Amino acid sequence: MAKTNKYGPAGKRLREIYTRLLDAFGPQHWWPGETPLEVAIGAVLTQNTNWGNVERAIRNLKMANALSGPAIDRMSNERLAELVRPSGYFNVKAARLKAFVSFLMNGYRGDFNRMKCAGTARLREKLLAVNGIGPETADSILLYALEKPVFVIDAYTKRILARHKIVSLSEDWDYPRLQGLFHQCLEPDVDLYNEYHALLVRAGKTFCRPRAPLCRTCPLSEMEPQALEPRALGRAPKPRILKPRTPRSRTLESAERQE
Ligand code: SF4
Repeated sequence: MAKTNKYGPAGKRLREIYTRLLDAFGPQHWWPGETPLEVAIGAVLTQNTNWGNVERAIRNLKMANALSGPAIDRMSNERLAELVRPSGYFNVKAARLKAFVSFLMNGYRGDFNRMKCAGTARLREKLLAVNGIGPETADSILLYALEKPVFVIDAYTKRILARHKIVSLSEDWDYPRLQGLFHQCLEPDVDLYNEYHALLVRAGKTFCRPRAPLCRTCPLSEMEPQALEPRALGRAPKPRILKPRTPRSRTLESAERQE
C-alpha cells in the first residue's frame, strides 16, 4: 500500500517542494553568521536590502570591534548609523539595532542562552514589541539565532506557493496564515525549517522572479499547479483545480514588499 503523508495532501506537496529544491540546490548552510548576535543583527539589517550590503555593514561593525551587545549599547546612534550605512536606511536601522540590543541586555543580560530558555510564543510576542522588528525579522531571529521551530515567511515563499496553487490568491493569505500552513503541514523541526526557508529564497532569487519566472529550468517545473482547499488542511483536503494561470493579485503584490 502506498505510504500516505500524515499531514495530508498539503503536507505532501510542501514536502515535494522541499525535496526537489534540496536535490537541486543542496544544503544552503544558513544563516551566515558566527554568533547568535551576528545572526540577529543580520536579520535586522537585511530588511529592504540585499545580503551583500548587510555583509559590508557587519564587516564595519567587526572592524570597529562593535559586534557585541555592550558595544552597541554604549555606542551613539550616529556612530552606529555610520557603521551600518552600507545596509541602507542606516539611521532607522541603527535605532532598530539599539532597540534590539537594549531588549537583549535588559531582558536577558545580553545572553542568547537565557533568551533561548524563554517559551517560543511569549518570546515572539516580546520580539514583536521591539521597535522595528516585524514577523519576518522576529521569526528569523527565533529560528536562526535561537533555534526555535518557527517557519519564516517571506515574499519568495508566498510567490512560489501561489504560483503552484497551494495557496489561493483569491483568499487573504497573510503572514500568520501562511506560517500556520507550514506549521500544520510539517513537523516542528528546526533543521527542516532552517533549510526549507533558505531553499525557497534560493529558488525565488534564481528562478521565481516577480515578472519573468524561469520555469523551464526551475527544479519545481514538473510540479502540477493543483490547488488545495485551505479549510481542509490537516484533514482530508479536497483537491480543487484552478485555471493554470491566475493573474497576480494584490495579495501577491503586497507580499513582495519587505516587512
Ligand atoms: S519559476 Fe516557475 S516552476 Fe519555479 S517556482 Fe516559480 S512558478 Fe514554479
